[in-house]
Amino acid sequence: MTVDKAAAEPARTSLRTQIIVRGALRSLVIAALLCVASYYHVAGMLEEGVIEQLEQFIAERGRRDSEQFLQTERHHQAVEQALLEQLQAVPLATGTALFDDYFEPWPDGTWRTRRGWYDGLVFKDGLQHRGFTGFIGRDVELTPELRHRAALMAGLLDWYGSAWTATGQYINYFLSAPENLLLGEFIGVPYLHQVPADTHFPDEIFVASANETRNPQRQTVWTHFYFDATAKMWMLSSLKPVYLGDRLVATLGQDILLDEFVQRTLKDALDGTENLAFAADGSLVAYEPLLAEVQAAGGALKIDGARPQLQRIFTAVTGQSRRSGVVETEDAFLAYTRIDGPDWYLVNVYPKQLLQNKAMAAATVILGIALLGLLSEFAVLWLLIARYVLAPLRRFIRVTEKVGGEGLSALQGSELPRRRDEFGLLAKRFRETASELEASRQALLAANRDLDAQVAARTEALTQANQRLAMLAITDELSGLHNRRQFLHVVPLEVARLVRLQATPLWATLAILDIDHFKLINDCYGHGVGDQAIRQLGACLAGLHRRAGDHCFRLGGEEFALFASGDQVDGAKVEAFAGHVLEAVRNLVIEVPEQGATCRLTVSVGIACVQAGADLSLERLYKLADDALYLAKQNGRDQARIVLIRGSGDQAKTLELEVR
Ligand code: GH3
Ligand code: MG
Ligand code: MG
Repeated sequence: MTVDKAAAEPARTSLRTQIIVRGALRSLVIAALLCVASYYHVAGMLEEGVIEQLEQFIAERGRRDSEQFLQTERHHQAVEQALLEQLQAVPLATGTALFDDYFEPWPDGTWRTRRGWYDGLVFKDGLQHRGFTGFIGRDVELTPELRHRAALMAGLLDWYGSAWTATGQYINYFLSAPENLLLGEFIGVPYLHQVPADTHFPDEIFVASANETRNPQRQTVWTHFYFDATAKMWMLSSLKPVYLGDRLVATLGQDILLDEFVQRTLKDALDGTENLAFAADGSLVAYEPLLAEVQAAGGALKIDGARPQLQRIFTAVTGQSRRSGVVETEDAFLAYTRIDGPDWYLVNVYPKQLLQNKAMAAATVILGIALLGLLSEFAVLWLLIARYVLAPLRRFIRVTEKVGGEGLSALQGSELPRRRDEFGLLAKRFRETASELEASRQALLAANRDLDAQVAARTEALTQANQRLAMLAITDELSGLHNRRQFLHVVPLEVARLVRLQATPLWATLAILDIDHFKLINDCYGHGVGDQAIRQLGACLAGLHRRAGDHCFRLGGEEFALFASGDQVDGAKVEAFAGHVLEAVRNLVIEVPEQGATCRLTVSVGIACVQAGADLSLERLYKLADDALYLAKQNGRDQARIVLIRGSGDQAKTLELEVR
């Protein structure tokens, strides 16, 4: 019993490594797919949440910012209503008289409010007043109507202005008249006491923006933002012209500090996002990267093709019909809201990348957890495989290796695991198979032994059959003599041997015999008698010619050949031999059973005796004998013709003899 060598070699790759590596690869693919799926799931959920959050955020921002601007417009409505009522209700004389309580002439030709209205004073009404200043230009004609109007405007400013600026939410409130009059409460600044005497307020942006030509609808208007040289701040003004009938009597104004709005816009953004604000006409209001340029241009920096990203935002947002909402672009969510008053748009740009980063972070955490889980799972698997698979397998391998040395009985050894699982079952099958194989092996060995005996017997029979066949192949069936095939095999060998042994002169003798008129025997007595004659003649010749080195052949038909070799050959001996043969044939009696008679026969013989030399060959010998036979036939049959050649080549001497 031998074992396949490959089985004894150590395994090239461990089963455990294969299972773990393949399992790990598949699990990794699944984990990666999970990660991708969770990425898209989380991204989808985040997107919903973000859009909702953005909508709330922007709506709230829009409401808050709008409120500040709308409040300003409501201030104007209150003052406008009060002014118009008082202009009609308060008698001219009363207002004119009050004028001097508010204004005093200045040496520079202007009229300014008295100092106390700024520093603080107790007026006739017994109340404490402070905080505002006023200015009337140098060449203004102080008509009673203007004095009346100026006094009423000062009273309204004193009344409302201090209320609105006191909250700290607004920095000022001011009223102007087209005759170059300005009254205003500017927190902490006696502004109109500081302006130069030649100041002409009707030309200033915060007055002129509301005049008839620029504002024919006579609505509240908002200026572009501008840098106020006195206050040294960026601001924009809300202006409301007040008409008494068709006559412009006053312009009401309130400033809002741009800086405050811009700071709020830029700072109050969700993490990772940016805010920007622009007017409906496309001019930028607040945008962090262009902050300096925006302010330098004073509200005139338009969004155009030079800034394609801003232009895309502008187009997307201004194309919406809702006041606020969220628009999705290729790379961002745009939360937008309209701000009432100056008609601005506030936009919060939420890059999608932010969302993707968050989703990616979540997916990475999931992947990390999955990998950790897989790692511990495979560590446990590693140990389990070692204990429950590799250990029993190694025992199987050891046992099969032992089979090489000890035979199948090793399979029945106690080392095979005895367990209840598949390995136990396999071991049981191993043991059973070992028993069956052993039984088969014994049966096979027995069968082999029988087979060996049979083969030996058959081989012996075959050898004998072959020998018989070989005999048959060289034997003439009828006469029992060697046949022509054996003649052509044996005689050349003998001739060659004689030629080789030239040291002592040796002779080769070939006699060819042919039955005389054999045809007649066949014709007269039948073929059976002819055959019998051939058999008897063969036996006769074999009996005559039986020394060692003599050979007797039936060449075919009724023709025979005798071959002999010897050293003592001469004419007399050959003649004696020939006579002996002729005589023996003549004495043969052939039975003719059908006729109850007998018959006789004779032969003609051609004999060639040649002393061995270089020129001796079967062909030459045969030709000489055959020619002699021909002569014997010609000469009357029942006789022998002999040709004897002594020596070879030129020294050859030929002797011809005849025997009857
Ligand atoms: P010759 O004296 O000139 O030799 O005359 P012959 O009749 O012997 O010679 P021929 O060659 O004319 O005839 C030979 C005959 O031998 C013819 C053939 O039928 C006969 N023969 C040859 N072989 C056998 C054989 O095996 N059995 C029998 N019965 N006859 C044979
Ligand atoms: Mg013949
Ligand atoms: Mg013949």
